[in-house]
Amino acid sequence: MQTPPRVLTVAGSDSGGGAGLQADLKTMLALGTHGMSVVTAVTAQNSRGVQGAWELPAEAVRAQFRSVVDDIGVQAVKTGMLASPELVETVAALLAELAVPVVVDPVGVSKHGDALLATTALDAVRTKLLPTATVATPNLDEVAQLTGVRTTDETGMRRAADAVLAFGPRWALIKGGHLPGAADAVDLLTDGTEEHWLRAPRHDNRHTHGTGCTLASAVAARLAHGDTVPQAVTAAKEYVTGALAAGFRLGSGIGPVDHGW
Ligand code: PLP
Repeated sequence: MQTPPRVLTVAGSDSGGGAGLQADLKTMLALGTHGMSVVTAVTAQNSRGVQGAWELPAEAVRAQFRSVVDDIGVQAVKTGMLASPELVETVAALLAELAVPVVVDPVGVSKHGDALLATTALDAVRTKLLPTATVATPNLDEVAQLTGVRTTDETGMRRAADAVLAFGPRWALIKGGHLPGAADAVDLLTDGTEEHWLRAPRHDNRHTHGTGCTLASAVAARLAHGDTVPQAVTAAKEYVTGALAAGFRLGSGIGPVDHGW
């Protein structure tokens, strides 16, 4: 048996299994990679929202990272919920040691409005975490929170991308899924020189929990296979579009995207 590419998620746990590191590991498996996890926080969570969240000590995050990197090795990393300024700084310092692609999903607030990152951590995300990113994948709310650029149209997405790139990631993938009235889900991938607009039909399905985690993990998995960033993002968008179309009801609130489509 050949060893599959190894991908690491540094993220929070979703007890409901729809988002967070659970979505990441399912995505990594579906895309033919071996998924590994450094847990940053534990959430008590279901289809109705987040009922509680507890971050792990920085020491526990460092120890998990060391265990994985020193023995198994990593071909790509994805970061998700990092909770606090201390964990953002800890993770950024660990990533700076690695010479592999890093996908940063600058998770701020869940669809239900639950804070997954302290507002006091925003500065560390801008100045420490984003510079380590090969690709940063903010949605428009996260762009507004990180850069102050608020946009409701495609022209504004260019400004949003420039503002994110100013913090130092190699590429910015601006997710326009929340643009009002758009028939398609439109995302912009750019490194400041090349520009790739990705469009997919918007699905009339409310069961979208875990979309952002899934997209970022799919990009990391494809990068671990050796794709270029535009190839990886195109494949990841296709994967998430399929998973979204197949999102299903679970509990009484917002169900998860489906990884078995
Ligand atoms: N829970 C965890 C641990 C997450 O990392 C995320 C997003 O990154 C969410 C919940 C939010 O998921 P969604 O906004 O797709 O419902």
